[in-house]
Formats: sequence, structure tokens, C-alpha cells
Amino acid sequence: MADKDLNALLLHTMKDVYFAENAILKALPKMSKAAKSKELKAAFDKHLKQTEGHVARLDQAFKSIGVKAEGVPCEAIKGILKEGDEVAEDFAGGIALDAGLIAAAQAVEHYEISRYGALQAWAKQLGLKEPARLFGETLDEEEKTDQGLTDLANSKANIAAAAA
Ligand code: FE
Ligand code: FE
Repeated sequence: MADKDLNALLLHTMKDVYFAENAILKALPKMSKAAKSKELKAAFDKHLKQTEGHVARLDQAFKSIGVKAEGVPCEAIKGILKEGDEVAEDFAGGIALDAGLIAAAQAVEHYEISRYGALQAWAKQLGLKEPARLFGETLDEEEKTDQGLTDLANSKANIAAAAA
């Protein structure tokens, strides 16, 4: 794995996503606490449970390739989560809070979708069947979460945010 090949890229990205998922695990309870509507709180709480599963799948994927599970600092997720904190702070108590929190959460989901999409494709290319399956399962949950957030925004949060 010393060469800068696809194996090295896969491993680096797994560590990057491992860091990101653990950061998201810490952020979701705060986002749930900040959310105003019970539906949005429930969506964040549900995704917290799923995120625990994402970390577990990554643990399994590391095990499958015989590498110790560990993270490397991911500046992208740190920045995305920081923006979410800023929205929560700036719009606290306001009618647009949930719309802002949803958009912030979707930035996290889109980041994850891009990463798991790459991980799945690379694992397939390398013939790593179990990791490819695990990445695909998580990718599916991230995409469903993203869609659920879009539905919540369109059906409620965006409307409430505009109704001054
Ligand atoms: Fe995740
Ligand atoms: Fe997610």
C-alpha cells in the first residue's frame, strides 16, 4: 500500500470518512436539540441511530481489508458542521431555523453521498466485495435521509420560514 494507487486512495478516504462519521455522531444530538419541529428532531434522532451503524460498517470494512480502523482529520466535514453551528446560532428562535438546519444537514448528507459513492466504486474496481456492499448500504441510507430532509423542507419547514 506504499504506492499512491487506488488501494491507498481507498484507505485514505475510509479514514477520512471514519473521522467524518464520528464528528457527525457528536453533531446530530446538538442539531436535534436545536431543531424546533418534532418531525425534524425525530429525523435527526433516527439518523443518529443510522450513523452509529455507519461507523460500525466502516469498522467492518477496515477489518475486511485487515487494517486498523482509524480516522484522519477531515477539514471538509469540520467546515460543513461549523456552518451548521453558525446557522443554528444565527437563526435561533426564528421562523427560518428549521429550514436552515435542514439545509445544513443536507450539506452533510451530500458530502457523505459523494464519499460513499467513490468508496463503493473503488472497492468494486479493486474486487473488494464486502467493503463494496457495506459502502453501498450506507450510501443508500444517506440518500434516503437526504430525500427525507427535502420532503420535510418542502412540506413544512420552508413554508413556515416564509410565513412572516
Ligand atoms: Fe453517515
Ligand atoms: Fe448521514
